[in-house]
Amino acid sequence: MKIDLTTLTITKAHTHLLNKDFSVRELCDAYLAEIKKRDGTIHAFLEIFPQADLDEQIATAQALIDSGTKSLLAGIPIAMKDNILIKGKHASASSKILENYTATYDSTVASRLKNAGAIFIGRTNMDEFAMGSSTETSAYGVTRNPHDESRVPGGSSGGSAASVAMNGALVAMGSDTAGSVRQPASFCGLVGLKTTYGSVSRHGLIAMASSLDQIGPITKTVADAEILFNIIKGQDIFDSTTIPDATFEKMSILSAKKPVIGIPRHLVETEGLDPVVRANFDESVQKLIALGYEVQDIELPHVKYSLPTYYILMPGEVSSNLARFDGVKFGLLKEGDNLLDDYKKTRGQGFGREVRRRILVGTYVLSTGYYDAFYNKAQKARALITDDFIKAFKKVDVIITPTTPTPAFKIGEKISDPIQMYLADIFTVPANIARIPALTVPSGFADVDGKKLPLGLQFMAGECCENILFAVGKDFLGE
Ligand code: GLN
Repeated sequence: MKIDLTTLTITKAHTHLLNKDFSVRELCDAYLAEIKKRDGTIHAFLEIFPQADLDEQIATAQALIDSGTKSLLAGIPIAMKDNILIKGKHASASSKILENYTATYDSTVASRLKNAGAIFIGRTNMDEFAMGSSTETSAYGVTRNPHDESRVPGGSSGGSAASVAMNGALVAMGSDTAGSVRQPASFCGLVGLKTTYGSVSRHGLIAMASSLDQIGPITKTVADAEILFNIIKGQDIFDSTTIPDATFEKMSILSAKKPVIGIPRHLVETEGLDPVVRANFDESVQKLIALGYEVQDIELPHVKYSLPTYYILMPGEVSSNLARFDGVKFGLLKEGDNLLDDYKKTRGQGFGREVRRRILVGTYVLSTGYYDAFYNKAQKARALITDDFIKAFKKVDVIITPTTPTPAFKIGEKISDPIQMYLADIFTVPANIARIPALTVPSGFADVDGKKLPLGLQFMAGECCENILFAVGKDFLGE
């Protein structure tokens, strides 16, 4: 049977595999053929795993299928972001400093996917250490947007999003510290889920900012994101910040009534919003009303401070997390004349510009004398922002915004202006600050220069209420 990769979902693939309409090998080969056709230009992948390794995974998955497994992921090809460890595979976080690093253990997410029978097809390009919104800070070259190759796919999980959009994998994994799953998913016309902080283990995720990082799926449908979430979530003894399963269950109760939707108009009416995004957002609101949702205006008074708060907390955590890459504990050693010289050479040559910028800012905001003025103040702002959401979720069940203020921008357009680049996260960063889940779904297209550029709508819900996001997201997409 000819496999239609464009409309394939996890559930459909599973049924076809069980019915023997195609084999696990035929499914993988179909994706590999697309990769061969397009990835020379798109560059979504840093590596496609060696055939011998794929063969082994295929054999294991086919045996599961032949046994009539109920595991929906058996034989499903997944692309993994280059900061999620898979035992025996390189993981570089798209940095030169880790170019020779091989993972000695599986991340919890990789081991849960593996146990479910998934097939890791390759590792995907990203912004270096997940710092960026375009994949342009990768030490291994930019990824192109499959919808318009002159544009970025978003970032930092740009390779993961592009891999799914070009049919190089059925689904992909990314990580989201301020929007890195949702923004590229939106730029590539896909679904992306930022999970509740602590719902998914960070064990084996190369850390960027530990109080904000979460792993999440990038998929074509909300149902696929839900399937993956249910496999990767759960308490983990290797990550003490994971939420106990019973607590998660208790907090995730979905009431029978139709969720009420809140719109923070004061945020949506921001200056930098592209009129085309604004018009698309208004259409999405109308669509939700037509679907029978009650829509209310809400206020989130402190949320406008999210981006500045993030750009203090995140660099602070980055400077501390990246201290381990000193050429001795981790990272490629560049030898100098003495120890200090070793450090300078290793970090000067191993880290790119954006990473160095953030380490410097982070060291500054954490330094004695400035700690109270910056880091402590940002912690207080984080508490106020979180409180805004807690109050809002007493009135409404879901909050919506556009996912990004503009459609995908041109390669090179923002890379020399960090502030412009940082503004790409204006709608996505609040969910990380408040630790709540957020889902982006495709909401239409902008016609720009004769190309159709995808746009996204973001839904946010209270902690552990991913189920509400799945319900509303499916309804919105008509799944
Ligand atoms: N673009 C944001 C940044 O550069 C988000 C990164 C992320 O979510 N990993 O920090």
